Amino acid sequence: MVRKALYIPILLVFSIFISACSPPVQEVISSSTDNVDSAILDNLDVEKIYSNVKELSKEPRIAGTDSEKNAANFITSQLETFGYAVESQPFEFDHYIFPKLVELTIDGIEQSFSPEPFQYSVSGNVTGTLINVNNGLTSDYEDIDVKGKIAVASISDIYFEEMVLNAAEAGAVGVIINFADGLPNTGWSLGKHHDDFIPTIALSPGEGKSLLNLIRDNESVTGTITIEGADIEKHESQNIIVTKPSKTSNDEIVVVGAHYDSVETSPGASDNASGTAVLLEIARVLESVSTDKELRFLFFGAEELGLFGSEKYVDEMTKSEIKRTDAMLNMDMVGSVDAGPLTMFTVDGFSNTVTDTAKTIKKIPLEFTDRSDHKPFHNAGIDAALFSYFPSEEWYHSPQDTIDQISKDRLDEVASLVTASVLKLSTNNYHE
Ligand SMILES: [Zn+2]
Repeated sequence: MVRKALYIPILLVFSIFISACSPPVQEVISSSTDNVDSAILDNLDVEKIYSNVKELSKEPRIAGTDSEKNAANFITSQLETFGYAVESQPFEFDHYIFPKLVELTIDGIEQSFSPEPFQYSVSGNVTGTLINVNNGLTSDYEDIDVKGKIAVASISDIYFEEMVLNAAEAGAVGVIINFADGLPNTGWSLGKHHDDFIPTIALSPGEGKSLLNLIRDNESVTGTITIEGADIEKHESQNIIVTKPSKTSNDEIVVVGAHYDSVETSPGASDNASGTAVLLEIARVLESVSTDKELRFLFFGAEELGLFGSEKYVDEMTKSEIKRTDAMLNMDMVGSVDAGPLTMFTVDGFSNTVTDTAKTIKKIPLEFTDRSDHKPFHNAGIDAALFSYFPSEEWYHSPQDTIDQISKDRLDEVASLVTASVLKLSTNNYHE
């Protein structure tokens, strides 16, 4: 999953429903699905999934590097062994270089500040009067003149990039974003590069408060934001695509996806060699199965740096393809021993064709998140959902994300549920 681009107060995370105690998935599948052949599910081999997680997580698979390309080659050769024609979809993406220097100085004040950059903060050296703009909403600028000044905004529930663009639109030259108590001011992102961004820094809750006090107690406070060395480089990644035609004249499409890149320093066994290996196994088992609808197996590159692979794929889909796509099932972090129970996520938290279908097979909680590859499909109007174990393991995106942390039972559970859901969704006249 990608780093949080949005501040979501924890209380806003809600459950639509939570199953108290569900029987094992295989049991429920055999008792509740008439149109799913249980022999197909029996073919899923968790030992194969596990050994592919192990192979993929030998090293970090950072987008745009040789290690990601090696993983793409491994996935391609596996799919070819199963008998598929495999397509590679190369694309370029913006690789952000973090700044070497980030500073905030206040005229006439000795106090030193320790600001942090956001991912995609732009370089610059700007000086101006500091103005408290509350939460930096569009409405906050109606009565405040920030032209040529530096906006000091406190986080609420809008995207950081909106705060920056609102300030820029109002004529500010820089933005200081104050964090709320209990939240670290590091590791945050502005989503992706935007030409209208102005130099932006994140201040800790303590430093933010003392800055607001200074502004309140003085007639005019002048500050300077310095960001040096931030840059954007073009790197190349690729999606790996398999298209499996339908056996009928039905032209509808069911998509199953997972990203195969990982973050720096993390071997990414859970995130997301697990989803990749489960998807490989689903593709292997379904190769010999005739379905009424076309199936597409999509292995996305460069997810961790901003969903670049899935966005590229959806951007290249024709209007007709989007219209014909009934469902998108995404798997991300599906094997960790230390995460919570298997959970579905949609971007808006509402159920759709995918979650309704999976729910007939096994009752699992529904939550919301936009932090993985189901998002671009949802935004295009396709019913899409993420399958993941939640809450996520605490060690995700760290060097501890290794094969030792992977549970075969969990890989098996998600493989069975997603395969059964795909079979139901790809049956003619199936409408839950
Ligand atoms: Zn992930």
